Amino acid sequence: MLALRIGTRRDGSRTGVLAYAQEHAREWVTPLVTIEAAERLLRNYGRDKATRRLLERTDIFIVPTVNPDGANYSFYDFNSQRKNMTNHCPPQQSDPALRNQWGVDVNRNYAVGSHDDGYFGASANCQSGTYAGPAEHSEPESRNVIWLAQRFRNIKFAMNVHSYGGYFMWPPGAYKAEGRVTLPRPTKKEEAFFERSSETILEAIAAERGTVIWPQQTGPVTDVLYSAAGNSADELWYDHGIYGWDFEVGADLWNAGTRTWQGVGFQPPFDEGHKEAMEFAAGLISLVGIAADYREH
Ligand SMILES: [Zn+2]
Repeated sequence: MLALRIGTRRDGSRTGVLAYAQEHAREWVTPLVTIEAAERLLRNYGRDKATRRLLERTDIFIVPTVNPDGANYSFYDFNSQRKNMTNHCPPQQSDPALRNQWGVDVNRNYAVGSHDDGYFGASANCQSGTYAGPAEHSEPESRNVIWLAQRFRNIKFAMNVHSYGGYFMWPPGAYKAEGRVTLPRPTKKEEAFFERSSETILEAIAAERGTVIWPQQTGPVTDVLYSAAGNSADELWYDHGIYGWDFEVGADLWNAGTRTWQGVGFQPPFDEGHKEAMEFAAGLISLVGIAADYREH
């Protein structure tokens, strides 16, 4: 697996930002978001003072696709592939006819707030769309993400890019079913930082084509969406002290004909997917800006 590393001083002395996409194979727009952000940073470095400042003050790590094997399968064999390509099912569930149900949900395979720990929103069934895997970190895809966080301790911010629906979220991302007890809340001060930063980032997204991420879709994952036991952003936050955000790119579009909001889907027509990539790349670069201004306190 390869990752891009962008910055004028890539020696650990600058605040690190990690952007990683396509844990879920079918979310085709998500790698474009990260590649577009990388291209803007590199192309604009020579001529734009603001970009130069970002690259002088930050150390950016980009993994355009966390789950390339699943992505390949989604591109060429089964569009709706979500999980990775490792079959952990027993022989009686390993008929080739079941191949589209195999695999581990990479974003349920992490070790914090996991299914093993009793958290809700992942499955022990190898055919489930949210199969957590045979053990925490059983999959190379999830170990790669954690390796980056362990190896490059200057990483303080992360963006986990998913689709679709138009969400902007942060920890906690899981709760225990009994009593709906979430992972610990960030402190008031940390929560305020998440909130304040989200306003800046959402403004950058809206500036591209007016897309508003709705307030009811902005906040902790457990408060605005659901419980996702064993997700990566939680592990980055709770085990590594990294501000771990999630994008769900691809906000609903208003259909003037039917006067309803319509979901854009995992694989929108290129024109729409391209626009999503443009606006969320702007959001990602805005996060780099927040990292550039960040001072530990
Ligand atoms: Zn996803």
